[in-house]
Amino acid sequence: MSQKLKVKLTREEKANQILNNGFVKRLDDQNYEVRSQKNKDIIYSVWYDGIDQGFCNCIDHMNFPDKQCKHILAAKEYRFTLLERIVNDLMGKEE
Ligand SMILES: [Zn+2]
Repeated sequence: MSQKLKVKLTREEKANQILNNGFVKRLDDQNYEVRSQKNKDIIYSVWYDGIDQGFCNCIDHMNFPDKQCKHILAAKEYRFTLLERIVNDLMGKEE
């Protein structure tokens, strides 16, 4: 079997890969740097506040400004995971 199965990943799946690779860097609660998976020299600036759709300076987001690109989704997931950890820590302390 030499034929490669070409699987098209969804934006959500790609975002998870980015996150698992540790390519998301939090600058503050609303600003994130997300490194490109293809070219590690490229870093996208993501703005996401947890309420609005967010903004990213990648081509995907420029082409589809009404959708959250994988970088915004990665930052969103990162933010959510972080908040979840903080909440868990607080809950743990109260016991
Ligand atoms: Zn993007």
